[in-house]
Amino acid sequence: MMTHYLLLTPGPLTTSDTVKQAMLKDWCTWDDDYNLDVVQTIRRTLIKLATPSTGYTSVLMQGSGTASVESVLGSALLPEDKILVINNGAYGKRMAEICQILGLAHEVLSFKETQLPDLEQIAVKLATGGFSHLAMVHCETTTGMLNPLAPVAQLCSDYEVRFILDAMSSFGGITMDVAKLNIEFLISSANKCIQGVPGFGFVIGKQAAIERCKGNAKSLSLDLYDQWHTMEVSNGKWRFTSPTHVVRAFAQALTELADEGGVAARQARYMQNQQLLCQGMQELGFEPLLPVNLHSPIITSFYSPTAPNYDFKRFYEALKAKGFVIYPGKVSDANCFRIGNIGAVYPEDIARLISAIAEVKYWE
Ligand SMILES: *Cc1c(COP(=O)(O)O)cnc(C)c1O
Repeated sequence: MMTHYLLLTPGPLTTSDTVKQAMLKDWCTWDDDYNLDVVQTIRRTLIKLATPSTGYTSVLMQGSGTASVESVLGSALLPEDKILVINNGAYGKRMAEICQILGLAHEVLSFKETQLPDLEQIAVKLATGGFSHLAMVHCETTTGMLNPLAPVAQLCSDYEVRFILDAMSSFGGITMDVAKLNIEFLISSANKCIQGVPGFGFVIGKQAAIERCKGNAKSLSLDLYDQWHTMEVSNGKWRFTSPTHVVRAFAQALTELADEGGVAARQARYMQNQQLLCQGMQELGFEPLLPVNLHSPIITSFYSPTAPNYDFKRFYEALKAKGFVIYPGKVSDANCFRIGNIGAVYPEDIARLISAIAEVKYWE
């Protein structure tokens, strides 16, 4: 058997044994054993997690999370539309790159990776820029920063701009109501806070907004409207080969989310994990990159030790040997590493992690 270690990485992440077991069978895409409403149940469950209100629908899309982001941007912007992309990290930057490659009318409003997007600057842009859409990342997984969701949603409503939210690393782990926030499209994926395995993303959007995309996609396989329409009229059928095992694992993961007590209960566990992590790391002498009020319950960046004999790879391997896989840093102008606490990871795991780090601090 392979040695097992916890993935303290925000996707792929540690899944439960029962989620993994759901994949131990060769599922057939069109057979009732696989299909029997599994996709439709997933779609309905996702909508319920997003809002108690009506008017929203959901679509599942093959590929990693980025494919779903690309599907939304490449389908939702009509030729007369123009989008403002908020960028304070790698994932905001990725949305800007998608707009660039697809030739979409767009502007990018950039901030430092360690800085919150500035609401006044956003308001000034929206007041003068002729924008139809705004796109922002909710939890910037680059740093772990939680961007100001409610205030930006309010600005979008005030200026009648359609709001696209990359909630990839937060949906299912942080409570939100997409209808209250007047979100046009929310994007997430199977291998983040729902605690499934990688293979597809999903989009929760206003049904009217998805219908507005009809005939507008810049790609055949990433056509959001077509994918939605086929699922709607064919009882959850995917247009092209569906990631059967991933879908089955995801259905199991959704059941386990409900068993845990829903998104609020999961958020409480993630917050407890994060607080234990942050406190334990600070006691060991590690400083978080961001001030505590900007932390998310998802992932935390820490400055690397400055000792001359510190080396991330060596630290990583030593921790892996003790059963924990952490993440390299992704910030462009600071030397740091990241530890995620989403997935089937519990406060006792974080306590074990802190003890393991205390043991492997070879650089002191
Ligand atoms: C994980 C993630 C994505 C998608 O990344 P993929 O590698 O394509 O799955 C997008 N945005 C954010 C904020 C993420 O955390």
